[in-house]
Amino acid sequence: MKIEEIQDLLVCPDDGQGLSSAIDGSLSCVSCGKNFKYIDKSFLEILPLKFSDWDADSARMREIEGAYRNMFQSSFSWGVPSHMWGELDKASMGYQCFVRAERRKILNMLKPAKDSIAVDVSACAGNYSCFLAEYVKVMFHCDLHSPSLVYAYRHKRDNMFFLRSPYHNIPLKNAAFDYVFCTDTIIRGFSHDLKLLSEIYRLLKKGGKAVVDFHNKNWITSSESVRFYSPADIEVLMRMAGIDNYSVTPFGYVPLKTIIHKASYEILDNICGFFLPCQRNLVVIIKE
Ligand SMILES: [Zn+2]
Repeated sequence: MKIEEIQDLLVCPDDGQGLSSAIDGSLSCVSCGKNFKYIDKSFLEILPLKFSDWDADSARMREIEGAYRNMFQSSFSWGVPSHMWGELDKASMGYQCFVRAERRKILNMLKPAKDSIAVDVSACAGNYSCFLAEYVKVMFHCDLHSPSLVYAYRHKRDNMFFLRSPYHNIPLKNAAFDYVFCTDTIIRGFSHDLKLLSEIYRLLKKGGKAVVDFHNKNWITSSESVRFYSPADIEVLMRMAGIDNYSVTPFGYVPLKTIIHKASYEILDNICGFFLPCQRNLVVIIKE
């Protein structure tokens, strides 16, 4: 992906103004003059001056916020641990099946146009972005975590562009994108989640669609590290973000620990759908 093809979609995360090429090959903000450096071809680091606080509402969430803030403050590095979280081929069979089924579901719900421009705002190791990139013209892969970015960058498709940036301050233009994806990230408490949802909505062009997912409050297990949402909670969050046009689709029924063979996932998931609540709710948002 050549920078010339996407440069007019990039903005300074502090003032929303455009970026121009500087003499030394970096990009600089046309308004505040801040410089942003290339990590590699098709790979930029664009961080805002300040970390955007989460206003976390529990000790556990404050702890996770602290870890994310540390990540924000640490410099990029090319190092990748031998076993990295989110690396699909090394994940449990249940998780692998879930991710493959969810991204297939997203693809079927959207049927993306070939000439479209998409963003994955919390793309991690690229399990969704690298897959969905095949169906769009350009895919922006955004994340803050260096090892995940490096891993995804090594598995990238040619039409992907990588941004090291925190998901509350995506350095991309307002209302310019056909699709925005965000899975397993609107999970850290109401204030954090509302900010993230607003950021996702900001990026969408008129008629553009976002797909996000929520962990279901009625699911059989819970975790202090995840904010679970009932459909009514989702409605409150959407209303507060000023989002009116959206639909909710329940997804994933089988407890993932019970999956030993790939072939059994779909059958067991269908059966569990008769008597278990869904694990996630997938939400498609349409910008009006
Ligand atoms: Zn600026």
